[in-house]
Amino acid sequence: MTKPNMNYASLKDSYLFFRIAQKVKKYSAEHPDEKILRLGIGDVSLPLCESVIKSLNDAVSEQAEKSTFHGYMPECGAPFLRTTIAEYYRKRGVRVDDDEVFVSSGASDELGDILDLFDKENSALIIEPAYPAYVDANVIAGRKIILLSSSMNNGFTPDPDENHAADIIYICSPNNPTGAVFTKEKLKKWVDFANAHQSVILFDAAYEAFIESENVPHSIFEIDGAKTCAIEICSLSKTAGFTGTRLGYTVIPKTLERNGMRFNDMWIRNRTTKTNGVSYIIQKGGAAVFTDEGQKEIKENIAYYKENAKILMKVLDEFDIEYTGGKNAPYIWLKCPNGLNSWEFFDLLLKEIQVVGTPGEGFGSSGEGYFRFSTFGSREDANAAAF
Ligand code: PLP
Repeated sequence: MTKPNMNYASLKDSYLFFRIAQKVKKYSAEHPDEKILRLGIGDVSLPLCESVIKSLNDAVSEQAEKSTFHGYMPECGAPFLRTTIAEYYRKRGVRVDDDEVFVSSGASDELGDILDLFDKENSALIIEPAYPAYVDANVIAGRKIILLSSSMNNGFTPDPDENHAADIIYICSPNNPTGAVFTKEKLKKWVDFANAHQSVILFDAAYEAFIESENVPHSIFEIDGAKTCAIEICSLSKTAGFTGTRLGYTVIPKTLERNGMRFNDMWIRNRTTKTNGVSYIIQKGGAAVFTDEGQKEIKENIAYYKENAKILMKVLDEFDIEYTGGKNAPYIWLKCPNGLNSWEFFDLLLKEIQVVGTPGEGFGSSGEGYFRFSTFGSREDANAAAF
């Protein structure tokens, strides 16, 4: 008899967005005239920018001609895009070689696949509250998970500690769901800790484009020592609205090795076995993001979301509600007022002002008592919610 991967039986139901949808559906059926204001979505609402659309269209036309047609793409990414992304790092003063960049179909795919590089016996440290995929991917792999709780007291950016040592360490900055960011000093402590313990940090930089503060690194490779202990996973989903178009990239330094094995070599071997590359058309579209024009256009879209954040933060300030995020991240993470738990606060907002957000409990038990607003929705909804 085939034995299934029984670790799936250990996964908790991912009921968060299902439960939200059920509650909203019920409320709307009972109150058909009320407009629901959506501040819960993690998806972008603005379309792809002009440069990307032009580049995608040009690439489609190339695929229509025998002389310009492209078949399979190199498994680790088209050279033009690997160079473009490495240049993006180098322009910011971070030394990354072209062959340290791997093009992916997005951060989610990569966060799951990258675990192939690690032994099943490795433990994984996850700072909670956390993006749920970190826990689930390790449950599926049958790994021991060590949870490190964070709270408003440490700004949701805890320091490493010896009681929470692990082989794989997840750090997400800017963070989903808390919107918190690790400063250079904070991140340096984690890099030193990882090097001292011979751990590997999986640095999720999906929201780096939202950083505006000086002392907040966009990449973990801005930190001395990171090239011997970190892998960075990034995505164009939120940077450039690629949630439905799908493109990301991963940086694996050639200097990262454990037990005589180089992770960069292992990942080349993995990719050449498990993928046939990302579509030429999408990679061409992605390359346009890194042009001067593309950068200008995506920044305009990000500024739109940031304006939504300002509108919401102003109201929270007026009500003296404690929160993190909003500045360097598209999420605002607030403490539920009056000691309400996160689902009680959800119900209250829906009933009283028809605002839908995301209960913090969905991001792990240390998210209980907190609530997440996303700023990816429309200006109309942000204004109406603030009013
Ligand atoms: N990492 C974090 C922290 C996210 O919030 C998300 C998406 O919401 C992802 C990764 C996945 O991004 P992608 O669309 O590239 O799969």
